Amino acid sequence: MIFDYFRNLRRAKLLARQPLDPDLWKQVLEQHPILARLTEAEAIQLKELTTLFLAEKQFECVQGLVLEPYQKASIAVQACLPVLHLGLDWYADWKTLILTPKEFQDKRRDPDGALVHEYDEELGGQVMELGPVILSWRDVEDSGWGDGYNVVIHEMAHKLDLRSGDYDGCPPLHNGMSYEEWELSFTQAYEDLRGKVGRLGKRAEKMLALDPYAATDPAEFFAVCTEYFFEAPRVLLKEYPGVYGQLCLFYRQSPLTPERVSPERKSS
Ligand SMILES: [Zn+2]
Repeated sequence: MIFDYFRNLRRAKLLARQPLDPDLWKQVLEQHPILARLTEAEAIQLKELTTLFLAEKQFECVQGLVLEPYQKASIAVQACLPVLHLGLDWYADWKTLILTPKEFQDKRRDPDGALVHEYDEELGGQVMELGPVILSWRDVEDSGWGDGYNVVIHEMAHKLDLRSGDYDGCPPLHNGMSYEEWELSFTQAYEDLRGKVGRLGKRAEKMLALDPYAATDPAEFFAVCTEYFFEAPRVLLKEYPGVYGQLCLFYRQSPLTPERVSPERKSS
């Protein structure tokens, strides 16, 4: 398509004229342990996506927050990790990120259901269908350390989920993937977690390997599993190997064995 041609041309020019500051990129790689597994080729690809993300998305700060270049790059790199082998066009239907200094209250609940995410009373992140992604900087700071929590990746997973038109924990799958196998793996795992959370009650948070918040509904289960996939893949593989396998196919990444990723499989 002619539109794709001009967009790709614009992106190529931008990468040539405004490359990411090398020192800034070095700092980003060093301060996000979840990026340590990437191959050299993947790191180069992620740097390009991060550069384009910073140029194409709009960052709006509220409540007095001011973001330094490193902070924006930290958000961008974590947002781009899930689409490393999918491409930035998976985020083409939204443009704005709203950043708050810390967790925020859900005071803007939309009766028509446009609001699709909440973390209990205090929100660390939120997405609106076709609308902005809202993130608290304090939660972004807690992300990327390899402990299973990542608010940026969580909200990006919701955006990918919404690409299918439904907020149901199943993004549009690639050719060669099976919706039946996806549903089987995810439903079994989700029901297992719901059962455990129900039995353990208040002890669930301490006793379960996965965040019990994942048992909220299938969409949250997909988002939380995606967090573990990129943050603590061994935990997810041990708990729910079927889900881990489906996420390898969807994200076209194998966090535990990066050499298995085929570099030419970048298109959707
Ligand atoms: Zn969520």
